[in-house]
Amino acid sequence: MIVYRGKSVFGGIAIGAIQIFEKNRQKIIGYKVTDLEAEVKRFDRARKKAKEQVWELYEKALREVGEESAAIFEVHHMLMDDTDYIQSVLTIIIEQEVNAEYGVALTGERYAQMFEDIDDAYLRERAADIRDVSERIIDILLEYERPKIDNSEPVILMANDFAPSETVMLDKEKVLSFVTVEGSANSHTAILARTMNIPALVQTEIELDDALNGRMAIVDGFEGVLYIDPTPELLAKKQEEAERERRKQALLKQLRGKENITLDGRKINVYANIGNLKDLALVRENDAQGIGLFRSEFLYLESEDFPTEEEQFQAYRAVAEAMEGKKVIIRTMDLGADKQTDYFRLEKEDNPALGFRAIRICLTRQELFRTQIRAILRASACGNVSMMYPMIVSLKEIRMILQIVEEVKAELRRENIPFQQDIEQGIMIETPAAAMISDLLAKEVDFFSIGTNDLSQYTMAIDRQNAQLDEFFDPHHPAILRMIQLVAEKAHQNGIWVGICGELGADLELTPAFLAMGIDELSVSPGRVLPLRKRIREIRADQGREDLERLKEGAFGR
Ligand code: PEP
Ligand code: MG
Repeated sequence: MIVYRGKSVFGGIAIGAIQIFEKNRQKIIGYKVTDLEAEVKRFDRARKKAKEQVWELYEKALREVGEESAAIFEVHHMLMDDTDYIQSVLTIIIEQEVNAEYGVALTGERYAQMFEDIDDAYLRERAADIRDVSERIIDILLEYERPKIDNSEPVILMANDFAPSETVMLDKEKVLSFVTVEGSANSHTAILARTMNIPALVQTEIELDDALNGRMAIVDGFEGVLYIDPTPELLAKKQEEAERERRKQALLKQLRGKENITLDGRKINVYANIGNLKDLALVRENDAQGIGLFRSEFLYLESEDFPTEEEQFQAYRAVAEAMEGKKVIIRTMDLGADKQTDYFRLEKEDNPALGFRAIRICLTRQELFRTQIRAILRASACGNVSMMYPMIVSLKEIRMILQIVEEVKAELRRENIPFQQDIEQGIMIETPAAAMISDLLAKEVDFFSIGTNDLSQYTMAIDRQNAQLDEFFDPHHPAILRMIQLVAEKAHQNGIWVGICGELGADLELTPAFLAMGIDELSVSPGRVLPLRKRIREIRADQGREDLERLKEGAFGR
């Protein structure tokens, strides 16, 4: 048995035969041409044909693996229209008087190198896209047919790395797992594996050799290990684990459409957190009852300039409509600290987590805030939209916000623009200050959503970005749990609902205690909706009372 370690990008266990994915790369030779005009036309025809092919791949991917994986072909389409890229190829053909494939190969390699040198993991990955696009144009120029992947039985597919156009051509039914020598968490292989729900390893230190073809292997995506020629004992053990995992997944899927209700009849809302429109597919797949946190700042992070009111409106409307009447809580932008964009031109700060961020930016640069509020209010006419404000520490802030919202509403009324007149407005409780005055804040708003990620960092004075502090961090610190209970109590005393949208909401060990506190809603990442539903359906709401008393004494702490 041979054992290799890799970086797991998705859990699960795959057992089957190995197949090395062969690439048939050809060496491109430059030669002199005399009819340069004809050569330019050849390039142009090939580029257009390549674009058509890529569009077909986009539609195939959209049908088979969904929008997230298909999106990469939109990028390819755009790359082939990039004026710098085209100009570079034309300059090489004309100035060096050479053949088109040579111009494409040289340009492709230069651009790929440029991307490889960028200090950003995602952008570095785009080098593979440039190579893929260039190879496609070259294949067309050379009238070369790419070899088809021939795997009649499901296999563990191995390659140095997969280009997106290669993965999309795969018969997905026949792939048990991907193993690559290169690649990263952002690589297409990783994205595809997550979409397909199969284990995958990248950065596996394996020497690819045809002699591996047909040999039995196990990919353990939980441990990040590849076993080749496993011993019969290990094979039996892993088969059992794989079977357990299959049963677990199947059982979870059976919970789709079921209520989030405890054995003694208490219902709780389980919503999902999203960052952009692409996450909606996962929300549907995991049957969340609503969206408890739409982190709208990602809209700003994905733009190169301030997103306009119209751009924002379209995005919020799309989410509201897609959720078909289910609740969508849009959080106004929570920028600053670790979420920076150049165009905001925020000054460098010594303590950004304690600095100019989120609502503090909004209340200072009110024109930005008003634009966002207008967009959210307009979208509220298209679905069940609520608005939520982050990083609140004082009554003064919430009063200023409510005043601004009233002014924007009056503006929309004057312009005859429809919106939900009594749109639900809530705040995040994610600072100790807000938790401690939650009795006062509860009189001003319609709901609370507890952001345990920030609440924990500010309460324990532990930077959530600093991995070095992990050993000091205690997610079950009694201070946090006492604060959550206090906030729940104050919310209910004042007749408003309270939820949790930080990561702690998905902590299944705490579910009984949260129920005992009377938490009304838990908003978690889409993949954690069904495990949480399962947990809720297995317990009694009153079961957590004892836990609750013990946790306040630190019994759940580290
Ligand atoms: C939180 O702080 O718990 C939260 C949900 O917001 P974010 O993680 O976006 O800061
Ligand atoms: Mg937060």
